[in-house]
Amino acid sequence: MRIVLLGAPGSGKGTQAKLLVAKYNIPHVSTGDILRSSVTAGTDLGKKAKAVMDAGQLVSDDIVLGLIQERFARTDAKNGFILDGFPRNIPQAQALDAMLARLGRPLQLSLLVDVPNDVLMKRITGRRSCPSCGSVFNIYFSQPKTSNKCDKCGTALQHRSDDNEATVRSRLQVYEQQTAPLVAYYKAQGKLRTVRGTGSINEIFKSISDIVEAQIRPLADVMHKIEEEEAAKAAKVAAEKLAVKEAAKAAAKAAAAAAKAAKKPAVLPKAGKKVAPPAKPSKKDITAKKAPPPKAKPAKKPAPAKAKPKAKAKPKPPKKPK
Ligand SMILES: [Zn+2]
Repeated sequence: MRIVLLGAPGSGKGTQAKLLVAKYNIPHVSTGDILRSSVTAGTDLGKKAKAVMDAGQLVSDDIVLGLIQERFARTDAKNGFILDGFPRNIPQAQALDAMLARLGRPLQLSLLVDVPNDVLMKRITGRRSCPSCGSVFNIYFSQPKTSNKCDKCGTALQHRSDDNEATVRSRLQVYEQQTAPLVAYYKAQGKLRTVRGTGSINEIFKSISDIVEAQIRPLADVMHKIEEEEAAKAAKVAAEKLAVKEAAKAAAKAAAAAAKAAKKPAVLPKAGKKVAPPAKPSKKDITAKKAPPPKAKPAKKPAPAKAKPKAKAKPKPPKKPK
């Protein structure tokens, strides 16, 4: 599953990304993280990025794309990825598409976690965190039991200075300006899916999972169809083999029957004799009787005639049980 995650600051997309990672076993590729780790690791691209950042400049799209491509080449990304923080504009989105096309691994889904601005505002400006243990509270949604004190350790909670309304408002504006074109871009590609980012974390994740499953399912359906067709082919071949076997059996039986039939003429008379012991004398008489029957008993003629068909009919029934 190859996903680009879109969402405003405070949308909770990071939390959802973690759940996606756990469920689908694909890495969460955040451009911030891979920049930091490549600089730390001192890779060629990491050195380049560090030089640019040390000069107080923005890391170019080429470098970021290179880092992303390196990240995608790692084995844990063989089944896909959740890309977060990139692209932020149309040229980046186009460059990403071009890179993924070269890799033969086009993007499958652009997932937008959509949260109304007033909710985002409360989520960010209401955030209070414990400097001691890292617990996070929100004065609107998850208040600490004691005002401004950590539930776990009792430390006084902190409010980040840049979590004020004016700063958040401008951050949301920047986000909207960046994201609106991307939303249109992925919508035009038919890859955009929007999930409402309000409600419980589990409810939101259920919606996201449904969307991901729906995106994966068509692929699974294609695989299933191929499997079914192959199974049908195999069944047909097996049926043909069986038919050949049956035909061979039938031919063998027929041959055996023919052989029996060839012997039977010798056997049949015996049966005939058994059935019609009285016929014995009659046989002798037949020539004599043949002439006389028309005169006296025409009924006797049918009798020997009947006995013969019976004998012939007997070998036939055994053929049926085949
Ligand atoms: Zn605490």
